[in-house]
Amino acid sequence: MAEPKGYHRIEAWTNGVRVVLLGDAPDDETDPECEMHNCDAMGCSSLGHHVLARLWVDDQWLRQWAKEKTAAQTEEPT
Ligand SMILES: [Zn+2]
Repeated sequence: MAEPKGYHRIEAWTNGVRVVLLGDAPDDETDPECEMHNCDAMGCSSLGHHVLARLWVDDQWLRQWAKEKTAAQTEEPT
Protein backbone atom coordinates (compact mmCIF):
# COMPACT_ATOMS: atom_id res chain seq x y z
CA MET A 1 0.00 0.00 0.00
CA ALA A 2 1.33 3.43 -0.89
CA GLU A 3 1.85 5.89 1.90
CA PRO A 4 -0.57 8.79 1.80
CA LYS A 5 1.35 11.93 0.98
CA GLY A 6 2.52 13.73 4.09
CA TYR A 7 1.80 10.78 6.40
CA HIS A 8 4.34 8.54 8.04
CA ARG A 9 3.92 5.16 9.65
CA ILE A 10 4.40 4.99 13.40
CA GLU A 11 3.50 2.44 16.06
CA ALA A 12 0.35 2.78 18.13
CA TRP A 13 -1.18 0.82 21.00
CA THR A 14 -4.75 1.04 22.21
CA ASN A 15 -7.00 -0.35 24.90
CA GLY A 16 -10.04 0.94 23.05
CA VAL A 17 -10.22 4.21 24.95
CA ARG A 18 -6.70 5.55 24.91
CA VAL A 19 -4.30 5.43 22.00
CA VAL A 20 -0.59 5.67 22.71
CA LEU A 21 1.63 6.70 19.81
CA LEU A 22 5.21 5.43 19.86
CA GLY A 23 8.18 6.64 17.88
CA ASP A 24 11.62 8.17 17.95
CA ALA A 25 12.49 10.96 20.36
CA PRO A 26 14.74 13.84 19.30
CA ASP A 27 18.41 13.23 20.03
CA ASP A 28 20.43 15.13 22.64
CA GLU A 29 21.81 17.51 20.05
CA THR A 30 18.39 18.48 18.70
CA ASP A 31 16.74 18.75 22.10
CA PRO A 32 19.45 19.18 24.79
CA GLU A 33 17.07 20.56 27.42
CA CYS A 34 14.33 17.96 26.77
CA GLU A 35 11.94 20.75 25.81
CA MET A 36 10.49 19.02 22.76
CA HIS A 37 10.35 15.62 24.39
CA ASN A 38 10.61 14.76 28.06
CA CYS A 39 10.72 11.03 28.82
CA ASP A 40 9.67 11.47 32.45
CA ALA A 41 6.66 13.59 31.50
CA MET A 42 5.62 11.24 28.71
CA GLY A 43 6.14 8.10 30.76
CA CYS A 44 8.52 6.42 28.34
CA SER A 45 9.86 3.10 29.48
CA SER A 46 13.59 2.67 29.50
CA LEU A 47 13.21 -0.05 26.86
CA GLY A 48 11.82 0.33 23.39
CA HIS A 49 10.19 3.31 21.80
CA HIS A 50 9.32 6.72 23.13
CA VAL A 51 5.78 7.85 23.80
CA LEU A 52 4.97 10.65 21.35
CA ALA A 53 1.40 11.22 22.45
CA ARG A 54 -1.41 9.74 24.51
CA LEU A 55 -4.79 10.38 22.96
CA TRP A 56 -8.34 9.81 24.11
CA VAL A 57 -10.44 8.21 21.41
CA ASP A 58 -14.14 7.66 21.84
CA ASP A 59 -15.08 5.31 19.06
CA GLN A 60 -17.66 2.58 19.50
CA TRP A 61 -16.08 0.08 17.14
CA LEU A 62 -12.55 0.61 18.47
CA ARG A 63 -13.83 0.02 22.01
CA GLN A 64 -15.61 -3.18 21.03
CA TRP A 65 -12.63 -4.39 19.00
CA ALA A 66 -10.27 -3.87 21.95
CA LYS A 67 -12.69 -5.59 24.33
CA GLU A 68 -12.83 -8.66 22.09
CA LYS A 69 -9.03 -8.69 21.85
CA THR A 70 -8.74 -8.53 25.65
CA ALA A 71 -11.29 -11.31 26.08
CA ALA A 72 -9.35 -13.49 23.64
CA GLN A 73 -6.14 -12.85 25.58
CA THR A 74 -7.60 -13.93 28.89
CA GLU A 75 -9.51 -16.95 27.62
CA GLU A 76 -8.72 -20.12 29.53
CA PRO A 77 -6.90 -22.71 27.46
CA THR A 78 -9.13 -25.70 26.75
ZN1 LIG B 1 10.96 9.38 25.66
